[in-house]
Amino acid sequence: MPATAYDVLIIGSGPGGYIAAVRCGQLGLKTALIEKYPTLGGTCLNVGCIPSKAVLESTELYHKATEQFAAHGIDADNLRADLPRLMARKDQVVKKVCDGVVFLMRKNKVDVIHGVASFVDAATVQVVPAEGGNGEPQQLTAKNIIIATGSKPSSLPFITLDKERVITSTEALALRELPQHLIIVGGGVIGLELGSVYARLGSKVSVVEYTDAIIPTMDRTLGKELLRSLKKQGLEFYLSHKVTAVTREGATVKLTASPAAGGADLQLAGDYCLVSVGRRPYTDGLNVAAAGVELDEKGRVKVDEDLQTTVPGIWAIGDVVRGAMLAHKASDEGVFVAERIAGQKPHLNYLLIPGVVYTWPEVAGVGYTEEQLQELGRAYKAGSFPYSASGRAVAGSDTEGLVKVLTDAQTDEILGVHMIGPRIADIIAEAVGVMHFRAAAEDVGMMSHAHPTYAEAFKEACLNAAGVGALNM
Ligand code: FAD
Repeated sequence: MPATAYDVLIIGSGPGGYIAAVRCGQLGLKTALIEKYPTLGGTCLNVGCIPSKAVLESTELYHKATEQFAAHGIDADNLRADLPRLMARKDQVVKKVCDGVVFLMRKNKVDVIHGVASFVDAATVQVVPAEGGNGEPQQLTAKNIIIATGSKPSSLPFITLDKERVITSTEALALRELPQHLIIVGGGVIGLELGSVYARLGSKVSVVEYTDAIIPTMDRTLGKELLRSLKKQGLEFYLSHKVTAVTREGATVKLTASPAAGGADLQLAGDYCLVSVGRRPYTDGLNVAAAGVELDEKGRVKVDEDLQTTVPGIWAIGDVVRGAMLAHKASDEGVFVAERIAGQKPHLNYLLIPGVVYTWPEVAGVGYTEEQLQELGRAYKAGSFPYSASGRAVAGSDTEGLVKVLTDAQTDEILGVHMIGPRIADIIAEAVGVMHFRAAAEDVGMMSHAHPTYAEAFKEACLNAAGVGALNM
């Protein structure tokens, strides 16, 4: 069969692949995007960021109505959350954003090919229809190929994911009945976001975590504060517990875990168990070996600082390579590689990729954590500001959390910003912005911030770190 030739072939249509495709199209490169599922958008749009934020938003509204309206003098009796309708809205949201990617491909003259891609050699990819799909297998060649095949939920070797009651985030985002008792293995971002969703709707939620903290990769202060807030919301936590068994008997799921401190095993029984112990890079069936592309010991595609694999002309981005598994990291890398292929000299500062947790309060961080600065032996100063002292937060009855700013002890340059509180997911963008321009904390203290806003807390924490003295504390 004659192979169709492209400048760039992109395998995978997640936020890495589709954004790379848009940028390649903008740069005038003849581009094709290959996706094995019927819809574009990858994990993020179909079963990740977007559906999770849709259900978080719905359940937050419900939680506010049930728990907080009365304090505002609003009576809302007989409130009821209808899970199938809530999920139907989520499905509409997902459809809308996925359709948006189809539009973007058309607008940027990117050919979309549905099917499963695998390497034939370093310049040729075969695409066969996915199970149940029509069409003939075809071969495509390209000067450049971008692997953007993302990740899949990982599990523990002794757990059987039956996807009915022992589930991953994908099934947790599509439940049709409210769990009575949802057991969550793993206190990371995905487990806590989905745990919040069901706790707000009335499920009992128990989180079992191996380490001694939740969200353990973020600045430790954030995990401690979030733990306190989520406990108040009724979630139960078992930290420093190693899960040793998860078994299903009919509609009951049983979990056993051994405490690091010793003593009797923890035994829990629930009707659903969400296994959220991280995600694994996904290259199944891609036949990278035929192209000579090497994987590392964790199954990630090996790349250099330009995101080029061990084979010149083959690149890899997003969850399938080293680094944080975040949608915006994948997209930033997509733009980087597209521009690199077009002969430009792009730049990507990994230190300034923010991480966000969409619980309530929200959590976000960028730059160095305090633990990292201590490990590096770097002299730093810390400043903070609690939301309990923010007029806007008091007016909104949302006073949990704080902003912490870490600065270089000599130069006052901001090295890290860690926030927990209301609307933090958006406020972290200001920290990224000022850190991009290498601002000192005092610079932020001199910038006017509208009053009263939640963002003022960042300015106050900067003033505190700079030793100028906070204005509202
Ligand atoms: P993916 O989005 O995984 O896309 C890869 C695509 O490649 C898939 O569509 C797959 O079908 C396709 N593919 C794979 N192999 C082949 C093949 N051989 N042929 C053809 N196609 C193939 N990140 C955030 O930044 N913010 C969030 O709020 C957030 N929330 C999340 C919530 C949940 C529940 C989950 C699970 C993840 C969340 N993430 C979030 C992480 C985010 O979804 C990922 O980091 C992001 O999707 C990675 O993008 P990617 O392009 O690398 O891969």
